[in-house]
Amino acid sequence: MPSPPEDCLFCRLVAEGDHVHAADGFVAIRDINPIAETHLLVLPARHVDTFRDVGDFPDDEAARMLRFVAETAATSGLEDYKVLVNVGAGGGQTVFHLHWHVLGGRYDTGKLTRLLEREAA
Ligand code: AMP
Ligand code: ZN
Repeated sequence: MPSPPEDCLFCRLVAEGDHVHAADGFVAIRDINPIAETHLLVLPARHVDTFRDVGDFPDDEAARMLRFVAETAATSGLEDYKVLVNVGAGGGQTVFHLHWHVLGGRYDTGKLTRLLEREAA
């Protein structure tokens, strides 16, 4: 497996962030710029740049990642919510370490549109 970029923000936050939920190989953090009442990011400890590379995960780890997304929402008290992954700059991705947005409660449609549409700086 190629080593992650040394300056990866989300690798750093996996190692030393403020985790709202953590379990073998995955953490959830609060988005620094929330667009919804609850806006969490699920980060795998394994660095892959984008969801395009999800095939780099062993099958069991990929399955555990999905369960962890659902567990994160459940432990945060969410029953109805959105799960969103921006894939590539054209898909609105700005941080190139795979992450899953978990959005619950009331959300700002203008900000949601910007989350969907923004491109990497
Ligand atoms: P994306 O545009 O899908 O790549 O999402 C990246 C997300 O990371 C954005 O919603 C940012 O608000 C969020 N973000 C950036 N820096 C931080 C940070 N230091 N801590 C938590 N969330 C962050
Ligand atoms: Zn990383």
